[in-house]
Amino acid sequence: MHINDAVFLEDLCPKFRFRQWRKSIHKFTGKSCIYCGKPSESIDHVLPRSQGGLSTTENCVPACLSCNGDKSDENALYWYRKQKFYDPRRAMAIRAWLEGDLRLAIRLLQWANPNFEVNNKNYEKDTSEYKAA
Ligand SMILES: [Zn+2]
Repeated sequence: MHINDAVFLEDLCPKFRFRQWRKSIHKFTGKSCIYCGKPSESIDHVLPRSQGGLSTTENCVPACLSCNGDKSDENALYWYRKQKFYDPRRAMAIRAWLEGDLRLAIRLLQWANPNFEVNNKNYEKDTSEYKAA
């Protein structure tokens, strides 16, 4: 999609755009929770909205309802470190995601979970350069 199209869609129908955006976030992780790997049923604001967190891709990660609810308004990385399912590779993935480096985040998630499947075909094309490295 061209950037111009995206702007156009957003202007035309913000709700549609929002739904597409939510979908695309889940697609990045193959619909699995970024914290524990279970099916993602929600979008978690890493920096809570109550603390000024924005609804941007960098601040929004796919999360299961259990993680999303349990984390609540805590700092995500701090909260995550205390969990039984803590995995340093996932922690690195979360950090990369927050920095806007989704490619690195997804690669780290794949490393943490070899069964991880990327549903987004376009994305696989994008990551080919990393596989060669
Ligand atoms: Zn979870």
